[in-house]
Order: sequence, then structure tokens, then C-alpha cells
Amino acid sequence: MHVSKEVLWISPLVDLLFFLIITLLVWLISRFSQRIPGIRLLVFLLTFLTIYDWLTLTNRLYHRACLILALGVAVAFARWISKREASSITFWKMSTRWLVAVFVLLLLAIQGGKWAHETITVAKLGAVPQSAPNVLVIVLDTLRADHLSSYGYARATSPEIDRIASQGVLFENAIAPCSWSLPSHASLLTGRAPSQHGMQNVQPMPWLGWGQNSLGGYSTLGEVLRHGGYRTGAFSANRVYFTSNVGLGRGFIHFEDYFDSVGDSFVRTLYGREFARLYLNRTERSKATRALRYLGLEAWLDKDSEGSGDFGGAYGVRKRASVVNQELLQWIDRDRRHPFFAFLNYLDVHYSYGGPQDYPKPDWDRGTTIDEYDAGLKYVDDYIGRLLRELEQRGLARNTIVVITSDHGESLGAHGLTYHGASLYRELIQVPLIIYYPPQIPKGLRVATPVGNTAIAATIMDLLGAGDQGTFPGPPLSALWKSSKLQTKWPHPISELAQTDIIVPADRVVEGKIPIATNGWMRSLVTPRWHLITHEKFGNQLYDWANDPNESRNLIDSVEGRATALRLAAQFDAGTKAQ
Ligand SMILES: [Zn+2]
Repeated sequence: MHVSKEVLWISPLVDLLFFLIITLLVWLISRFSQRIPGIRLLVFLLTFLTIYDWLTLTNRLYHRACLILALGVAVAFARWISKREASSITFWKMSTRWLVAVFVLLLLAIQGGKWAHETITVAKLGAVPQSAPNVLVIVLDTLRADHLSSYGYARATSPEIDRIASQGVLFENAIAPCSWSLPSHASLLTGRAPSQHGMQNVQPMPWLGWGQNSLGGYSTLGEVLRHGGYRTGAFSANRVYFTSNVGLGRGFIHFEDYFDSVGDSFVRTLYGREFARLYLNRTERSKATRALRYLGLEAWLDKDSEGSGDFGGAYGVRKRASVVNQELLQWIDRDRRHPFFAFLNYLDVHYSYGGPQDYPKPDWDRGTTIDEYDAGLKYVDDYIGRLLRELEQRGLARNTIVVITSDHGESLGAHGLTYHGASLYRELIQVPLIIYYPPQIPKGLRVATPVGNTAIAATIMDLLGAGDQGTFPGPPLSALWKSSKLQTKWPHPISELAQTDIIVPADRVVEGKIPIATNGWMRSLVTPRWHLITHEKFGNQLYDWANDPNESRNLIDSVEGRATALRLAAQFDAGTKAQ
């Protein structure tokens, strides 16, 4: 489930290499001692490993049960083979070439099929005026707004983003639609609230893949732009929650998420995962870690932990901003006849913090959690700068709409929480939002009105001058820089968080102390002064965020607080409809 189809050729390849090593060892042992029956031992070991792999693949049986069952099958099979050794060897020799043929066919069908599908789709794209701008949406996963220098942070964490902001519009109070990746990305793509598109939790993957009725049947930005003649591509470093295999691929002709390196392909197979569990998680001083470094497999030790709960991807080799940039630029250079729509997810700010080990650390980094979080931001900021310079060199920068934002923030200790996805406090939903497009956007404008990130899709369509206003409900944020009168009437942004089990143990510890989403849904509404947070079972919290930005005083028990909460709560349903 939720593994891309490449696993069909990668898994046999990894197993083959692994089995060859075992075969070599058995051969060496049987050469030293004639008493050991080489073939029988090999049949036993390889049968056991194969059956164990297949049984665990079902994800329905206890690992110990798989182990015992696989041992039993291996013993029985090895015994059966021992009476038919000669004929078995003939059979294996014969069948090998067929297996190789099947493997090569799978490889060609999957990789070639992908390539052919892309080429044909691009060839069929409709005509677009020469002047049509490109669209580049950059999501810096897990970035809270108050850690960027342009949002008032004391450290120079984001000089490149600040430079872009100074030439475009910066939204001081942009609110994410949810506080974790999957629902938030689905909202960015559809322009709808999580309760509307319905992707509020990981859903089982349909046997025949995700059809038109995924995401509540709503159109995605990729689809609309593709129909408008755009070449569309997604480049994701969050390979658990922003992938085509969780259902977010609709509309993207090209989607780069999994299997970008040998290391990553390897740790996605069963034995690769076991290897990762045993050896890639050792301390810096362990022999395994030092051996991997010695072998030049440094990158394998750089793991990402998104979704490291019970759901896959736990030990995925981390995809860094440098790789995302490289993938994007290669894709851009492949075809310049059509304008592009590219959607990027950088995961470098996300836990584990700090950017790549071999990347120079900023001066402030003394190793505390917040120092490291900021260092991750500085790293990805550097790479955003590099990307824009690459686009400038290609003459594309001036004709590209650039949107920089995040899918949610990070607690970093606030309200007793550590990560994200457990609640909807300000540090979890206030994200950066910067839109840059010199021909149409005023320079250096800052908008204080709280806005929702669900409006990004409608804003892009508006900037492109597409007359279609029904697809993405908006209203487009461009209205805010065209007329300042609208600022007081703007719909208050709403965030929604469904009840969920994805919350990591470090955040579960506050259960019972503060309302979190383990035992009920939550939603929140932000006005220029107030922040109302509602929990299905534990009622309301109200913060005067304008005067208490850390949200340390819950005012719900005051008379004014209760009245304000009541007044604001009435906007929830109206707001959801209006969105
Ligand atoms: Zn995220």
C-alpha cells in the first residue's frame, strides 16, 4: 500500500543482490567443510527469506507468526528438494532466463510506460499564448512564519526569501488549512477545506489507483492548468504525505516522489527496511555508522521521519533541497515549448532538524532544538536562492509566478507540544505566504489581514487572468492588493483537524492536559484580533493573539471571552460554506 509501482522491479533486484551474498557465504562454508550440504542449506535459507518476505507483505500477521510459518515451509521444502536435487537444479537453470525476462519486461514496462505516458500527454497539450507565465509553488514543509526574518525573527534565517518578499507581497497572517501535511497539501491543490475534499487521514489505496472521485471529486490546480496547456509537475521531498500514491497525483503529468536514489529504493524493500532498522539508526560512534561513512554511503544516514509512526516510510533516506532543485531544473529543461506549473515540497525544515550534516552551520547554531530548526531553514533558504538564480539564468524568473508558503507550523515546545498535527495553536497554523510576480504584483507590500491558504489556487488563476472563477472558490488574494477596502470584510480563515491517530508519542503526553486531536476533531478561526479553537469534546479556547501572540492566556472563562467565542463560532458553518 502507498508504494509506487517501481517497487515491482526494485524489490526483486534488491532481493537478488541480498540472496547472492548469502549464496556466496554458503558456498564458502561448504568449501571448508564437506560435511555441510551446500544446496540443501541454501534452499532452506532462501526459501525461508522469500516466504518471510511474502508473509510480512500482507501486513496482517504478527511478525513472529510469519517467522514460524516461514521456518516451517522452508524445512518442508528443503526436505522435499533433497530427494530431487538434480532435477531441481535443471529446473532452476531453465527458469532463470524466464525470470530475467520477466524482470526486464517489468522494468521496461514501468519505466518506459511512465516515459511514454508523459511524452504523449505533453504532446497533446493545447496551445498557450507565448507570454503565459510559469507557475512555481514552493511549500517549505513544517515552517512556522515567526521564524523567518521577514516575519520579525531576530536571526537572519531567510535572506533569500526576504529578498523575494521585498519584491512581492507578503501576507503577515496566512493560516494553513490544517496542522499536518496530508490534508493541508490536498487543500493547497483543490482550494477546499479538509472537510470538503475529505482527505483528512490516510485512506487505503484503491486497487485500480486513485480516480477522478478522489479529493471529493474537486478539480485540482494541476488539472485545471494542464487543461489550459500547462506542463505540470510535482517534486516532493515529503514522500509519505505528498505523493501520488496517497492520492495527490491528479493533474500532475510528472510526479517525483519515491525511488530517487539507490539508498532510498533499498530501504523501501523488506530487507532494506530491516537493515535500516538495525544499522542506520546507530549512534554516530557506532561501528555500523562509521563503516557506512567509510563506504561513502553518508547520504543513507540522513533519514527523514515524516510518518515514522506505524505508517510506512519510517526510515526513508532523506531527499534534500539540492535534489529537489536538480529534479525540477532537469524537468524544466526537457521541454521549453509549454509554460510549466511546478509544485515543490522541501522537507529540510521538518524533523530531524538542522539541514544536511555536511552543510556549513550558521553562526548561531549551538545545537539546541531551535538553533537546529533555524539551521534547517537557513539551508533551504540558500537553495531557494540558488533555484531562483538558475531560473534567472534561463531567462524564466521574470515570467514566473512564485508562491512561497508552508503546509503547517511546528510547536517547538509551545503549549507543551513538540511537533505538529496534534492541535491548532497559532504556531501550528500561521505560515509564511509570499507571492512574487513583478508584472502584476506591487513591490514590498505587506498585508496584515488574516487570510487562508486555501485561497492560493484561486489567486493563481486570477493572476493568470483565467476567467473561470467557479473552480476554486477563493476569493483570490489579489483582491487584497487591488483594493484596501476589502481588508475589513475578508472571510476569517478556518483550519480543520480531524480526529487522528498519526500523532507521535512525544505529543500524546499532553493528552488530558490540553485538548488534542487524538480523541476528537478540532477547528479554529482567526480574526484580526481573536483566535477561537474548538474541540469536539472539550469545547472552546479563545486567545487574544494580537495582544498575546504566544497564546498563553485562554480567555474563554471571562464574560467577554464567552460572548466573543459564541459570536465567532457562528461563523464556522457560514465560513466553511463560503470557502
Ligand atoms: Zn508537513
